Amino acid sequence: MSVVELEDVTFSYTEVPVLEGVDLSIEEGEFLGLVGPNGSGKSTLLRIALGLESPDSGTAELFGEPAEAFDDGHRIGYVAQGTTSLDQSIPVTVSEAVTMGRFPHAGYGRLDADDRDAVEDAMETVGVSDLASRKLDELSGGQRQRVFIARALACEADLLALDEPTVGVDAESRDAFYDLLAELNDRGIAIVLIEHDIGTVTEYATTVACINQRVHYHGDPEGFAESDALADAYGAGQRVLEHDHSAHDHGGDQ
Ligand code: ADP
Ligand code: MG
Repeated sequence: MSVVELEDVTFSYTEVPVLEGVDLSIEEGEFLGLVGPNGSGKSTLLRIALGLESPDSGTAELFGEPAEAFDDGHRIGYVAQGTTSLDQSIPVTVSEAVTMGRFPHAGYGRLDADDRDAVEDAMETVGVSDLASRKLDELSGGQRQRVFIARALACEADLLALDEPTVGVDAESRDAFYDLLAELNDRGIAIVLIEHDIGTVTEYATTVACINQRVHYHGDPEGFAESDALADAYGAGQRVLEHDHSAHDHGGDQ
């Protein structure tokens, strides 16, 4: 069974089409990197896949059920765009935030020892145990983003859906974060990652989809680097860059 299955999906917010005839699937254990220029419909596609928007035509299924009707929310860890660079106050501690991820398992009742262990393990895995009593708004973007992943782990999500999760995160934390994602994917968690740094996507993802209103490429990362999809989707003049830290260091010292 596919984790996500989109068939012939068409969608628009206004009269301008955002997605047209999109077929895309994510299989168990897959790490899909979703790329495309700004405004190409990546976030919209992800929201449709998660049942947060409904297609105008075509179908979206999540774990074999219509995405919109899917109510097993704890199987999915979703980090929406803009979450890491959030500047509003979040008066919740790290351990509270991760514990919330566990409530679906406890039937929203009292957490037992196993639930508490799951919370501890999740914080340990992403390396935020020593931040347990800090408020989320006292963390760096990179730390906060690891807390969101811990929350998804505590709820034993089968799918992590991450929409540009490293915006505003320094290069070193970003690399550590992607190593963590690769490790979680090795354990069998399916991942869909929207990321504008194509070098990072081709390095970590097991499959790449490049979209701009429609799917321009869907296949292995090696094939993407050699295909014309990038130029098709982004326009002429683009090329795949090697994963070069200095070239992508937005908050850096150059
Ligand atoms: P991406 O994530 O690839 O940058 P989006 O899916 O956010 O692209 O947006 C695709 C297109 O839909 C863009 O042209 C954007 O301006 C438009 N759009 C996104 N959200 C809305 C909305 N809520 N209402 C109207 N237009 C929207
Ligand atoms: Mg987006």
